[in-house]
Amino acid sequence: MLEIRDLVKVYPGPVAALQGIRLTIAPGMFGLLGPNGAGKSTLMRVLAGLLEATSGSVQLDGEDILAHPERVRARLGYLPQDFGFYPALTGEQMLHYLLTLKGVEAPGGLKKLCGELLDRVNLADAAKRKVKTYSGGMRQRLGIAQALAGNPRLVIVDEPTAGLDPEERHRFYRLLAEIAAERIVILSTHIVEDVAVLCSRFAIVRKGRIVANTTPTAARADLAGKVFEGAADGAALEQLTRTHCVLQAVLWEGKNRVRVYDADGRAPEGFEPAAPTLEDAYLLRMRAPQSESAAHLEAAQ
Ligand code: ADP
Repeated sequence: MLEIRDLVKVYPGPVAALQGIRLTIAPGMFGLLGPNGAGKSTLMRVLAGLLEATSGSVQLDGEDILAHPERVRARLGYLPQDFGFYPALTGEQMLHYLLTLKGVEAPGGLKKLCGELLDRVNLADAAKRKVKTYSGGMRQRLGIAQALAGNPRLVIVDEPTAGLDPEERHRFYRLLAEIAAERIVILSTHIVEDVAVLCSRFAIVRKGRIVANTTPTAARADLAGKVFEGAADGAALEQLTRTHCVLQAVLWEGKNRVRVYDADGRAPEGFEPAAPTLEDAYLLRMRAPQSESAAHLEAAQ
């Protein structure tokens, strides 16, 4: 169990990037969803022991991570957002190098461990190829291989699917789902689909605060009967924003389709009820004034 209590991080500036994060995370895949600048990477880096928090506490299975980062580091795997590779090395050489840097101890030798890890992430056939020939998805799988060294209790992956094509993304999802079967995996992302596909539980972070902590099913169920879809352009759309919460207006086959939320279930004229999606739930949390989101969270807990 990972317990994060009242975590605050203020960068010089000052920039209050984390403003009292409180989360309890059980084994399995946990999504941390939020827009750019919300504080996700800051939180991931604090959890990984790479950045000092201003205040607050984090315990992994009862052990204080912030007080003893060196003790916990061995039980922790981290795939940062900007994972650097040496393109001229082969996958196997790169992994060997990363494990050496990490100080991983392998009873049967590092070479054997590299082979096992490459096999685990389905890269055994590409072990002797140079990293520069790898696709984005293969590089990310190599990143997961190094994160899995030492069989960590906690694995943190920061925005891992950005830039992957749909097929690579789905392959990567499968790998993450497999590794989450036996440990805590925290997936930080701004992509709603990542959470919908993978996470049994997730939190939404906005401006350094948690504004939702729920399951995809509950988040959708909360909106049942309150989401409507219809066509609106120009002045009609402008008018709609005054009477309803407009979740999004997107072009669909060349026409403007608008999704709105109404807490009382009142459909705007000409609009039809729509099945709520996780994206609706996310956009609603982004549209609501921050204080309202926080009140909603308190009511839900
Ligand atoms: P996210 O990962 O959700 O995009 P970040 O954690 O990177 O968000 O950033 C959260 C906030 O902290 C942003 O306002 C960002 O500009 C600010 N920030 C991030 N790193 C630094 C830094 N080293 N110094 C000052 N401000 C920072």
